[in-house]
Amino acid sequence: MECQKLVLERLRTAFRSGVTIPLNFRLTQLEALMLLFEDNENLILEALHEDLAKPKFETVLSEIDIVVNDLCYTISNLQTWMQPTNVGTNLATKLDDCFVRREPLGVVLIIGAWNYPLQLILAPLIGAIAAGNCAILKPSEVSKATEKLLAELIPKYLSQDCFAVLCGGAEETKLLLENRFDHIFYTGSQSVARCILQSAAVHLTPVTLELGGKSPCLIYGRLDMKSAAKRLVWAKFFNAGQSCVAPDYVLCPVETRDLLIPLIKEVLESFYGSDPQQSPDLGRIVTEKHWNYLTELLESSEGKVVIGGDSIKETRYFAPTVVVDVAETDALMKEEIFGPILPILTIKSLDEGIAFINKKEKPLAVYVFSDEPQIVTTVLNGTSSGGFCSNDGIVHMTLPGLPFGGVGASGMGNYHGRWGFETFSHKRGCMLRGWGLERVNVLRYPPYNESNLSW
Ligand code: NAD
Repeated sequence: MECQKLVLERLRTAFRSGVTIPLNFRLTQLEALMLLFEDNENLILEALHEDLAKPKFETVLSEIDIVVNDLCYTISNLQTWMQPTNVGTNLATKLDDCFVRREPLGVVLIIGAWNYPLQLILAPLIGAIAAGNCAILKPSEVSKATEKLLAELIPKYLSQDCFAVLCGGAEETKLLLENRFDHIFYTGSQSVARCILQSAAVHLTPVTLELGGKSPCLIYGRLDMKSAAKRLVWAKFFNAGQSCVAPDYVLCPVETRDLLIPLIKEVLESFYGSDPQQSPDLGRIVTEKHWNYLTELLESSEGKVVIGGDSIKETRYFAPTVVVDVAETDALMKEEIFGPILPILTIKSLDEGIAFINKKEKPLAVYVFSDEPQIVTTVLNGTSSGGFCSNDGIVHMTLPGLPFGGVGASGMGNYHGRWGFETFSHKRGCMLRGWGLERVNVLRYPPYNESNLSW
């Protein structure tokens, strides 16, 4: 691996030279990133299959299309976003030119997680490039094939003076974090996020944290149960449940639960066949360690498995699993599950469901399934979360116009589209004054006269 310090110095020199400032440079790099996708779709599919047995369809949707859409959106809008925003003046600043200018921060560090290993590095990179920064990319070492692919492809397509991939695990990342960056964009777990914040504090580096949490799905009132079951199963078991915005658990009345379980069974069979192990459309758990975690979690649960529950260590297969009779104190309700296990908890009223969600840390997403708009609004108004989506799961994060990020324990800051551009920009408040109205300034110069305070 190229020495971290040398890489950082190279990027700093490039940034200081001003090469990243012009619109043209930024557009060229964004278009090069687009080309990277066009030229290498097969290599990307292979790497994601090797890491997570990701079905082609899921890779295209969640690792390629989502980033390419954001690229197109950013390329079309960047010139407008880069324009200074004029600010209204008052009597004392009437003759001045007042505006907000978006300036790049400098050399930024982007650290990614393994579950969407390409998207979680390249989507933030769009914002960093758009805003005129240089960037060091640190993909997850857990998803090895994608890490290797990124290290090979990025230097082929992007300016090597301005962008670099550094590989490695916790130890290498800790060393890297000893250096001064102008922004750190981190995606991963809450526990590592605390280390990131501590390292950032040393240099007073601003940080974006894209974390996880237990995103609830509240099902209540009248609704189309068949569609609800399809959308819930899709969102939960996409990428074998390893999505930061996957519905972590379901809250619903007992009657709804009893209708839902046979429908979930039916949907699972129609999606993955009678033996999901044979299905090419169900991913695998990323490593044996993560598989062990899920197995132990299920074993320590006091709930009753009503669907699935079987798993095979050698292939890291884990069946789509549904558990009922889960108490609030159950092992499944402590940490984010981050795998294909869905606990269903029952509630007696909507208020009880909202109170349940609010007792926990603020999640990355709140989902509500209901045909009744009043119920949707009550849940929206009564809870706080990174994002919100009614009658579906995950899809809200595919729209580049919506900010994507957490709140409270699920993260800080956001990105996608213009939000990423803003995250990686310093908003510099500028006032260009001339020498006019000097006679009015007499009012603010000493010796002070308090009667002038009213101007
Ligand atoms: P992780 O925190 O273990 O690792 C993420 C990154 O941090 C990796 O690149 C890793 O090399 C690095 N790292 C690990 N230990 C470190 C240390 N001690 N010091 C510095 N760096 C270190 O997270 P993970 O297991 O890869 O990801 C799972 C978590 O990420 C889940 O909680 C999930 O919800 C969350 N996540 C959030 C989003 C989001 O967009 N909000 C997306 C994906 C995953």
